[in-house]
Amino acid sequence: MSPPHILAIPFPAQGHVIPLLELSLCLVNHGFRVTFVNTDHTHKRVINALQENSLGDGIHLVSVPDGMEPDDDRNDLERLCAVMPQVMPGKLEELIEDINRIEEEKLVCVIADGSTGFALEVAEKMKIKKAAFWPASAATLASFYSIPKLIEDGIMDTDGTPVKKQMIQLAHNIPEIDSTNFIWYNVGGGLAQKTLFDFICKNTEAVKVADTLIGNSTYDFEPEALSLVPNMLPIGPLLASSRQGNSTGYFWQEDLACLNWLDQQQPSSVIYVAFGSFTVLDKIQFQELALGLELANKPFLWVVRPDITDDANEAFPEGFQERVANQGKMVGWAPQQKVLSHPSIACFFSHCGWNSTMEGLSNGLPFLCWPYFADQFINESYICDIWKVGLRFKRDESGIITREEIKSKIDQVVGDEKFKARALALKETAIETVKEGGQSNKCFNNFIEWIKA
Ligand code: UDP
Repeated sequence: MSPPHILAIPFPAQGHVIPLLELSLCLVNHGFRVTFVNTDHTHKRVINALQENSLGDGIHLVSVPDGMEPDDDRNDLERLCAVMPQVMPGKLEELIEDINRIEEEKLVCVIADGSTGFALEVAEKMKIKKAAFWPASAATLASFYSIPKLIEDGIMDTDGTPVKKQMIQLAHNIPEIDSTNFIWYNVGGGLAQKTLFDFICKNTEAVKVADTLIGNSTYDFEPEALSLVPNMLPIGPLLASSRQGNSTGYFWQEDLACLNWLDQQQPSSVIYVAFGSFTVLDKIQFQELALGLELANKPFLWVVRPDITDDANEAFPEGFQERVANQGKMVGWAPQQKVLSHPSIACFFSHCGWNSTMEGLSNGLPFLCWPYFADQFINESYICDIWKVGLRFKRDESGIITREEIKSKIDQVVGDEKFKARALALKETAIETVKEGGQSNKCFNNFIEWIKA
């Protein structure tokens, strides 16, 4: 008999593809096979960057159109979120019909990202078990669940516009949320805001009624937030599970040579600087960051994605690359999970994406927090205020994080052993929870039993 067949559908962004692929690989290890459906655009990027044999036989990568033109900007979230629900459901239905035509291929379950509610609706329509996968924090989902109440309480209007800037506290020990930091409110207002707000509200409704919901979190990290999303089975942190950082599904080719460079550095000496897949810095801030790293006078490994600023390779301050040749290394894309587990790393200077947050915690690293948008402010607050494993930066009157501020915070976080001690304690917790008998492990096993039932 062939292994039970699952269809997995991520939202087409790097921070969604990596963890769902990680989960899919865990499921393959537990005797399933997975057809993984990217959009055509994402599929091409993943295939181009894929290292040989990194997927094995249990995963089959396929793709469907997202509804945009080949050269359209996929960072234009408004357009992406407007066209995907129009085009993708029909394409997914066709794909599922094709697969299900052969008896041994028939799907037993669809696992769809919580930001692709339309895929959960397709599964419902085609009478296939549907699981939602939530790759961000439970606190973020709790904030989406609370939208009707926030509207009722007059904190935002029915378009998601905050009535005033204020901090929202959903419950004790959950980060306060700035009413003006919700993702839909930061895309320029007007139609873009409405499109994104409606997209999120619709997805949230689909997640609420999914047959099951799994998330890349754990009761140990966010018990209070999880009590506000009682239908979530937390199975994370995914990285701490058995595969130990062999993630795949990158959009850019990883620069493995930086691991050799790390081998040559002193233990716990290197500042790893990476802002995920989406963050963009203007040229002034980019240069100030470069000068801050230089001023800190500690070894650093800095991921300078080709699109992190306009013309990234030309944007460095005059003479910077020559001056730091013995101090630092810049790469276009790092094998981050391997980097974070390298003994030379002292601290993670991060934009606080949830995957990066989980990866840093799973490796017992203190953080320096430089959030850019969306849920990253919530994650920053978890890191600095609740888990107390990192520090945030202050901006000056013109909104810049200065080189002196960067040096000062690097010195403070690396110089204070308490950050490291608390981070190591969380690492132990992460390892325990995904081990046989741990809470996340039990949730994962329950999930597997549910698929098989
Ligand atoms: N990542 C990586 N190499 C890099 C930068 C990031 O492998 O140079 C990975 C990182 O390990 C994480 C993902 O990309 O799994 C980024 O997800 P996250 O949620 O942290 O941020 P996003 O890109 O969604 O803002």
